[in-house]
Amino acid sequence: MARGNKEIIAKLEQIVGPEYVSNEEANLIPYSWDLTWAEPRMPDYVVMPKTVTEIQRILRLANHQKIPVIPYVNATNIGGLCVPEEGGIIMDLKRMDQIIKIDPETCYAIIEPGVSHAQLSAALKATNPQWEGFEFSKGFEFGWGVHPASASVLAMAINHGIGHLNGRIGINSQLLSSMEVVLPTAEVVKLGSCAYSDSWHSFLPLPRMDGLFTGWMGTTGIVTKLGIWIFPIRPYRDVLTIAAASAKDITKYMVHWRHYSLCDEVTAVSWWLAQIPITFPYKEKPKDAPEFFSYTVISGWSEEELEYKRKMWKKVVQEEKARGTQLIDFEYPEEAKRGRTELPSRIVGSTKNYSKSCGGGLAWPGTFAPCKSWPILYEKWKEIYIRHGLSPATRFTDYQGAHYGMLRCMTPFDKRNPESVKAARNAMVECVRAGIPLGMLPYKPPVEYMNELNAAADAGYVYLMTKIKDMLDPNNIMNPGKLGIR
Ligand SMILES: Cc1cc2nc3c(=O)[nH]c(=O)nc-3n(C[C@H](O)[C@H](O)[C@H](O)COP(=O)(O)OP(=O)(O)OC[C@H]3O[C@@H](n4cnc5c(N)ncnc54)[C@H](O)[C@@H]3O)c2cc1C
Repeated sequence: MARGNKEIIAKLEQIVGPEYVSNEEANLIPYSWDLTWAEPRMPDYVVMPKTVTEIQRILRLANHQKIPVIPYVNATNIGGLCVPEEGGIIMDLKRMDQIIKIDPETCYAIIEPGVSHAQLSAALKATNPQWEGFEFSKGFEFGWGVHPASASVLAMAINHGIGHLNGRIGINSQLLSSMEVVLPTAEVVKLGSCAYSDSWHSFLPLPRMDGLFTGWMGTTGIVTKLGIWIFPIRPYRDVLTIAAASAKDITKYMVHWRHYSLCDEVTAVSWWLAQIPITFPYKEKPKDAPEFFSYTVISGWSEEELEYKRKMWKKVVQEEKARGTQLIDFEYPEEAKRGRTELPSRIVGSTKNYSKSCGGGLAWPGTFAPCKSWPILYEKWKEIYIRHGLSPATRFTDYQGAHYGMLRCMTPFDKRNPESVKAARNAMVECVRAGIPLGMLPYKPPVEYMNELNAAADAGYVYLMTKIKDMLDPNNIMNPGKLGIR
């Protein structure tokens, strides 16, 4: 069965060619849902452009006809962000998959939206730094998360994605250097140093207009090229592990250790997140098992550098134990350690690790919170989760500099059972409501979280956000409904 309007389909076919457009229900169904609790909703068309000019032409048509446009690569965002609120055109950007440039001298890459983590990581590993006298390193890296390796680097980075360099260098949206955007009204703009020359190395010292397109979830324009900083791979790496009796104990250790800024990442997972797959429904933790398990990745240019970092880490652990912090010596199995250093990974980001035994649903509350709120919110969230029959499969990860970090609860649920879906959604919304007053801000927020955020927000903030959205997207065609402001 066909959806939408024949004239629109004919126009879209003229733009991208008939093989890259469809309004057939059978082709649209995969675009109508994601892993989260979002109600499946059908788009009317899917279109797969290859060039910036094609995107411009599609947006002109969409403005003229006032049809929503939803930017889409793999829809693994865990926020229902690519599920259309009001039908319209799914703009699937997978065909725009060129790594346009890797500059090994100035250490940046330029990528299109369809470039996957697996693709970019392979290309970066095969590129050596080129600077006279610098011969330490083989290959480059970017911040790889624990997401599916097939997901888009660009879509992750512009939505404040979190990768394995977050402790040392910052989250991925702090590693952007320039961008090209097609505005909702179809003009093409360049932001950052690329607006002045062919060099895509930096947004600074210009006004940070890239902020109009980062964290906006495809509601303000289509980013068609992105400059990202890349980093020479350090040849020495180690993973140090410790467990703790409580969220309070693990937080004390993590924040103390992070003040030295010596690690690439420090993460802790609750007992429930350490299970593969996560227990669903809720299962009690064995009494003698630690509540949290933590790993920290250190890297360096020599064995001596690594040894120094190990020494400092041991000092922190000893000092914390001496203060009464209940830390428990614990070794991760080698395979689990490899999972933390060999990213992007087919194993770690595998959705089935999280939800294979329970019916395919996956979502999370979180993810940015001040570290001092972690243990308080963990205890609140744990009570909420257990009350709803869910496992508090929680992760803490420190972001650069002990200011704040990830507080997230990976939540599998049974998509086949409406009661399970409802319980999971209610639990997660309740967690967000409890978290906002303590500084927690959800990232890639589903509409339900946006509503909670907007209700709590400073009125001037919502006013400005609405004004910017209206200015950039006067016909409200870009992923409408996701910001909860209309
Ligand atoms: C098991 C699991 C683990 C995960 N772990 C992590 C993690 O460790 N770190 C992390 O950051 N994420 C994680 N994620 C989330 C997600 O996988 C990543 O953010 C991913 O890179 C998103 O890519 P995608 O291709 O699925 O994007 P999509 O979901 O297709 O798009 C994401 C958003 O960006 C918008 N968008 C897409 N392309 C453009 C464009 N060109 N211009 C403007 N807007 C655009 C979309 O409309 C949507 O709002 C995880 C997901 C899963 C399922």
